[in-house]
Amino acid sequence: MPRAFITGITGQDGRHLAEFLHGRGYDVYGMVKGQNNPGIASLRDEVPYVETVPGDLADLPSLVAALELAQPDEVYNLGAISFVALSFNQAELTANITGLGVLRMLEAIRMIGGSQNNPIRFYQASSSEMFGKVRETPQNESTPFHPRSPYGCAKVFGHDIVVNYRESYDLFACSGILFNHEGPRRGIEFVTRKVTNAVARIKLGLQHELVLGNLDSKRDWGYAGDYVKAMWMMLQQDQPDDYVIATGETHSIEELVERSFAEVGIDDWRRYVRQDPKFFRPAEVDLLIGDASKAHDQLGWKPEVDFPELVSMMVQHDLEVEAAKAGIER
Ligand code: NAP
Repeated sequence: MPRAFITGITGQDGRHLAEFLHGRGYDVYGMVKGQNNPGIASLRDEVPYVETVPGDLADLPSLVAALELAQPDEVYNLGAISFVALSFNQAELTANITGLGVLRMLEAIRMIGGSQNNPIRFYQASSSEMFGKVRETPQNESTPFHPRSPYGCAKVFGHDIVVNYRESYDLFACSGILFNHEGPRRGIEFVTRKVTNAVARIKLGLQHELVLGNLDSKRDWGYAGDYVKAMWMMLQQDQPDDYVIATGETHSIEELVERSFAEVGIDDWRRYVRQDPKFFRPAEVDLLIGDASKAHDQLGWKPEVDFPELVSMMVQHDLEVEAAKAGIER
């Protein structure tokens, strides 16, 4: 059986990827940080076949020990401080985990033997936030980076060090430049899930207001279940390379809000929404839209869930969960 090792296993993508790889016959090892990580409970429920391994992206020896234990064929580095807003408050931590963590993972692979003799294949979770103040539209693999947050800056370092280690040490290392991808497993702090959860709670009479920042920002939103497949596809190629993964469509936060309320039959959504400057970013990313034609042509990847289906899936899931929590029959 092939063996996969995933950092960030407790996150949205980690659980989707574990499910996908398990379905393909992989033994899946997931790295979990901390002495009593609350994410372990959802791992046991959702992906009980994952073998958990202790480790932290801030601690190189722990990464080496984790790889020695898992002996993986493929390493997927999804672990990160991934919330842009938090990265402004905790910029140093973000640089350490989201940026330097990539370097430590690559070093651990070299120590275990990621050379031609033992070619561990490595996937790095790069991000469209690296494009930030975009230099061209749509963005592709050659678009210059102009990050607008400590998170984006840390991801640029991670991306560049993957290219450098690939070229310097002949590692099979790929980066997926993934545009936003969402789903019912998205953390509640991210805007899509914040909106769908609030809309569900407003519909159920559990909440009266949704407070947001900039409604004009535009994002290219896909479904996480589609995007983890692209990660795996990259590692099955003959040569390592970097790929943009995106839907090629962009939608504003306002559209997301309007569509989410429409899903529960509320048309006058402005009655429930208030803007608060505290949710505006110090430096904004106004518009992201990806050109994934390289992934279409070379990997044969394409997204299957479109924006309306994604919003509907998330709102319906949140209605079910919030109604069950409140003991409301539907
Ligand atoms: P997520 O849900 O926020 O998960 C982040 C994961 O990183 C969690 O499992 C977290 O573990 C782990 N982590 C945090 N600090 C760590 C540390 N010091 N050592 C090891 N692990 C640590 O993120 P996601 O949405 O699944 O995204 C996966 C990756 O793709 C991230 O690198 C993200 O930046 C990147 N990305 C995401 C998107 C997107 O739209 N979702 C787009 C582009 C790129 P705990 O639960 O223990 O904190």
